[in-house]
Amino acid sequence: MAPDRDHAPLTERVEELLAAGGPLPIVAAGRPVLRRATEPYDGQLGPALLARFVEALRLTMHAAPGVGLAAPQVGVELRIAVLEDPAPVPEEIAAARGRRPQPFRVLVNPSYEPVGTARAAFFEGCLSVPGWQAVVARHAEVRLRAEDEHGRPLDEIFTGWPARIVQHETDHLDGVLYLDRADLRSLSTNEAVAALWSQPSPETAAEALGFRLP
Ligand code: ZN
Repeated sequence: MAPDRDHAPLTERVEELLAAGGPLPIVAAGRPVLRRATEPYDGQLGPALLARFVEALRLTMHAAPGVGLAAPQVGVELRIAVLEDPAPVPEEIAAARGRRPQPFRVLVNPSYEPVGTARAAFFEGCLSVPGWQAVVARHAEVRLRAEDEHGRPLDEIFTGWPARIVQHETDHLDGVLYLDRADLRSLSTNEAVAALWSQPSPETAAEALGFRLP
């Protein structure tokens, strides 16, 4: 019944993961951990281990490189994700996609709800589905509620690309992959996207591949 003992396997697993140092191995689609709902974070790791875990997520996201990473993607079933986007894209693309630099953030127990009814559709990918991208129509604006790594409440409106990242990462914590929401006729290898579909919007791809945009 002791809470410490209940949580021992999780903390041991995280300690083990972190012991190697450096970026953590990223779990790929097909692993059940990516399909299960996560446990809300309620201090299970303790402040010191949480800080080390968050730092490892940051390092892993940078190394990938990616703009977001959720705990299940490193095999940990906790409701925690990180995001950061330096937005290193040409101005035309940044403008069309509403992609603006985002500072590093830790999302603990995040949830989102749409603001308004507008949707935006763009190619996106996932570190757990390497090599592929697909067009996902997502809420153009969402309200995110979460806590930061110190337990301080976050309540913020996100629009454009940051709204997409927030939805993608929070979905991971509910066992949802972006492919569940994608139009699969848009499914393209990274090579095909680079060669053919690097336009600011996916209109040309929609016409050529036969999928609909909102
Ligand atoms: Zn992902």
